[in-house]
Amino acid sequence: MTFEEARACVIERVMAGRVFPNPEEVALECAAGRILAQQIRADRDYPAVARSVRDGFAVRAEDVPGRLRVTGEVRAGERFDGAVSAGEAVEIMTGAPVPRGADAVIMVEHVIRAADETVSTDRPAERGQFINPQGCEATAGDILLGPGKRLDFSDVALLAANGNARVAVCPKPRVALLATGDEIVPVTETPLEFQVRNSNVYSLAAQVTNAGGVPVILPVAKDDFDDTHGLMERGLAADLLLLSGGVSAGKYDLVERVLAELGAVFYFDRVLIQPGQPLVFGRVRDKFFFGLPGNPVSTMVTFEVFARAALELLAGQSHTGLPFVLAPLTRDFRHKPGLTRFLPASISWTNGTPALTPVSWSGSGDVPALTRANAFLVADAGRPEWKAGELMRVLLK
Ligand code: AMP
Ligand code: MG
Repeated sequence: MTFEEARACVIERVMAGRVFPNPEEVALECAAGRILAQQIRADRDYPAVARSVRDGFAVRAEDVPGRLRVTGEVRAGERFDGAVSAGEAVEIMTGAPVPRGADAVIMVEHVIRAADETVSTDRPAERGQFINPQGCEATAGDILLGPGKRLDFSDVALLAANGNARVAVCPKPRVALLATGDEIVPVTETPLEFQVRNSNVYSLAAQVTNAGGVPVILPVAKDDFDDTHGLMERGLAADLLLLSGGVSAGKYDLVERVLAELGAVFYFDRVLIQPGQPLVFGRVRDKFFFGLPGNPVSTMVTFEVFARAALELLAGQSHTGLPFVLAPLTRDFRHKPGLTRFLPASISWTNGTPALTPVSWSGSGDVPALTRANAFLVADAGRPEWKAGELMRVLLK
């Protein structure tokens, strides 16, 4: 499958096969980053009354330019009981309700005050100027937010303004992380020269947390059928199973065989991307799984571009997308077409212009290079070269 086909396959399968657990309720201060599980309607008009957006004077637009008699003031947090009649002005503060009769606000900077309680201005006013009409942001009963939205800080502000001190959100999916490989040792051990420490479950745990899941780290599975089988059984108690390693064509790459024995359906087991070609996606006992390639950069990239979408949808998001941007290259870029490549790159800003530079790396085991990158440049499978200055697609890290 091409990158696009494989991504569409993940999204389609998970959308069709996901089940929504009962929502849970959280306090608003814990709601950012969670997926909303209810519809939120405006409890009143926003704003509830017409309000001034400047400090100044509430007037009738037809009375200015001219001299006006100041009949009172209205502060934020109170209302003015009287009305503004012909030739009158009421001093008004930002956020205060506009008195009856007034249809414009003139800024305090644009009037001259006289000792006799009058103000004069030499500027005309448009009707409605510096006034936010009642209901201009939302009308009582409007749908403000819907289920499936990941709440950001502005959503939280809206919920607070609307009086939603507690909200219903989707429970976070539990994601089992199972690394495989005889050469993999725990991070606390000193590896022999032919061993490596288990970094993949840590990068995956960080990525899972970022994407709204709860990582559950399992012990490393040996390249042994029974050991892998037993740990996969444990992993299938979670909502999503992520395996690392053991999906290439080697003699001891057992992951697919064990999954098949557990009754798995495979939707794909190879994608035309680099890094990360031997990527497996399927379902076993109503749980989705990914067999991610073991090379650390491949594991990280395939999580970001495939597993993350599955996790976000399982977490209750109504859609998922990759935040691609375009940036101009600082030098020519060439690759062999046929694979979509996600290569470590750095975006910097010089004189207000973004500049995209590939980070030199020694392949999909090169974690140090990836730490020097803040993005992945995306080389489309169908195109062989980009010239310096041309825009290239980028996935921010
Ligand atoms: P595999 O996909 O099982 O063939 O693994 C490819 C390479 O990725 C191995 O040779 C290891 O160097 C590396 N690797 C596999 N699993 C891990 C892991 N959990 N943490 C760090 N590196 C790993
Ligand atoms: Mg292996």
